[in-house]
Amino acid sequence: MDAVLVVNADLGPLHRVTVQHAIRMLCRRVAEIHEAEPDQLIGVFPLPRVVRLVRYVVTRWRFSAGPAWSRAGVLRRDGRRCAYCDDPASTIDHILPRSRGGRNTWKNTTAACYECNQRKGDRTPAEAGMPLRREPVTPSWAALAGR
Ligand SMILES: [Zn+2]
Repeated sequence: MDAVLVVNADLGPLHRVTVQHAIRMLCRRVAEIHEAEPDQLIGVFPLPRVVRLVRYVVTRWRFSAGPAWSRAGVLRRDGRRCAYCDDPASTIDHILPRSRGGRNTWKNTTAACYECNQRKGDRTPAEAGMPLRREPVTPSWAALAGR
């Protein structure tokens, strides 16, 4: 009776929480009331029955985030080949450099040889005139295990 259904921003049902928890979500503005009991108030809010997340949350059972990022994983994904010249690679290049907010993610990192990494420096591939030979992707578990 006191449980409130939480639905995703696309209205997909997620889980149930207590009324108190739902009210805290409303106060923190992470959720909005989707359905409520209009004549029962809890503080300033009508008693919620369904709250909807303001931002879409990617759920584990719909979409697997894949393996966690690692330097070794990037080298393995890329077959230890430099993304810029195809020579054997031993370093990881951040496509958007770390100094400019680039993060350790599968899509922002690629295997690179030492020379290309040095040459590219704190520039993007476009700025450095060094096009990527392949688009970095999130590898499957199998791809990481296979090589
Ligand atoms: Zn290279």
